[in-house]
Amino acid sequence: MLLHLPSVERLIEAFRRLPGVGKRSAERFALHLLAAPEEDAIELGKAILEARRRVRRCTRCGNLAETDPCEICTDEKRDRSVLCVVERPAGVIALEGSGGFRGLYHVLHGVISPLDGVGPDDLRIDKLITRVKEEGIREVILATNATVEGENTALYISHLLEPLGVSVTRIAHGVPMGSGLEYADGVTLTRALAGRTKI
Ligand SMILES: [Zn+2]
Repeated sequence: MLLHLPSVERLIEAFRRLPGVGKRSAERFALHLLAAPEEDAIELGKAILEARRRVRRCTRCGNLAETDPCEICTDEKRDRSVLCVVERPAGVIALEGSGGFRGLYHVLHGVISPLDGVGPDDLRIDKLITRVKEEGIREVILATNATVEGENTALYISHLLEPLGVSVTRIAHGVPMGSGLEYADGVTLTRALAGRTKI
């Protein structure tokens, strides 16, 4: 953009750091906010700060929440014997949106990726093992993404769970290889859950 307005450039740069936002979109967002009523911009700023301040990780499942434990962990209507392991909170959002899962979750916050310097100890795998031992879990569904790292992480966890006598399943990926749960539609996700296999 050739406006030479440092404050606007800064805003555009901030938008560009968001996932999936290119230069053009960032410029559109910035120009839109400058043209919109001031309250809209204030509301956006407030919403960002408020969410950052209120949201934390549930110490039990690792999902993002405003309470600890989170609403899902404390929901007595859910099946507390089934645990679905996902990489990131986006996976929980996708599965909840599909409506096809009524158990509990465990968010790893990443996958094992030696090239990125991420090992098992950097994830919430030890917490997962503790939960399986202490919470009367009968089945663990490994719903890490269909990427090399996601598959390796699922395999690693399945080996750790083997001696615990719990049923370990992997979701059937109708999801294209190399892609994440959050990009699949609800029907695909529900089928992937129904078609999970023992590993
Ligand atoms: Zn929770």
